[in-house]
Amino acid sequence: MIEVKNLVKRYGDHVAVNHLNFTVEEGQIYGFLGPNGAGKSTTMNIITGYLAATEGEVNINGHNILEDPEKAKKCIGYLPEMPPVYMDMTVLEYLKFVAELKKIPKDKIKKQLMEVMSLVKITDMQNRLIRNLSKGYRQRVGLAQAVIGYPPIIILDEPTVGLDPKQIIEIRELIKSLGKKHTVILSSHILSEVSAVCDYVMIISKGELVASDTPENLSKLMIGSNTVECTVKGTRKAVMSALNQIPEIKNVKYEDAEEKGCLKLVIKTGKDKDIREPLFYRMADASCPILSLSSSTMSLEDVFLELTDDSGKAARKLKKEIKKQTAEQEVE
Ligand code: ADP
Ligand code: MG
Repeated sequence: MIEVKNLVKRYGDHVAVNHLNFTVEEGQIYGFLGPNGAGKSTTMNIITGYLAATEGEVNINGHNILEDPEKAKKCIGYLPEMPPVYMDMTVLEYLKFVAELKKIPKDKIKKQLMEVMSLVKITDMQNRLIRNLSKGYRQRVGLAQAVIGYPPIIILDEPTVGLDPKQIIEIRELIKSLGKKHTVILSSHILSEVSAVCDYVMIISKGELVASDTPENLSKLMIGSNTVECTVKGTRKAVMSALNQIPEIKNVKYEDAEEKGCLKLVIKTGKDKDIREPLFYRMADASCPILSLSSSTMSLEDVFLELTDDSGKAARKLKKEIKKQTAEQEVE
């Protein structure tokens, strides 16, 4: 449905989108997840034909966005970051204007506008000036203009930004209902939003795709990378030599705890390794009593934070892990 190949966008020296590759299949809700500045809007503007790429190719239902922009654009309804609504028009006037721009046959406009307004629940507001609408209702008008013409693909750039919690829930419900008939791509910097609404998540960081999978699989990939936090009493030397006897440990960070003579440790282990028991016995052997101990698995939130952190280390690690798992699946 959408094919993005080797997409690059440079602004001067700055690389906003760095060799992106992905495909979008019909009938699902896709989430484009990444922190501010990750390149989400730039990518969406390129896919929708509003911005030219520096390199690479975008095909929408087989139509190249550069060579065949009219046909390609007809397949897409777009709600950009700054919706192009005219404050001095009424809702109905504006939507009629959009319908004419989209070349909806004259005799079909009225019926379709009624359907679309009812879908996004703005029928009661049709005669209001857009300037007098709340942000939530304006966003619905923005959604309505994207839906007019019933394009098979709907692309929404941060559709819930600036809305209050109640409006956010309403817009999310609306997006889910759109997902029944359309392929939807939305962007967000909020993980919980993407995992609540989307069937498939693409995480982008610094213009690169660092992971893409279902929300369930993404959390599975990382969960099992367990963390144990504990406070132990003892010298660094004694504690470290005790920890050295536990082979499952991958990585230890330590600092002086508030209590005198104690260390605070953050211990990371491999997948599905629970080291609490050996930790207890080794510390007991070394006469370093454990004063507190807690263990946690990584949440999807942690995955996201690690993947999009500045060093990019976790992102590389996950890429490797995904490659490894894919290779293992192929062997099976
Ligand atoms: P996001 O939507 O994920 O927040 P953007 O696509 O808006 O990210 O921006 C990606 C990067 O490109 C950012 O570093 C941003 O500063 C830069 N950028 C975006 N638009 C322009 C522009 N017109 N000129 C120069 N740099 C830009
Ligand atoms: Mg943006």
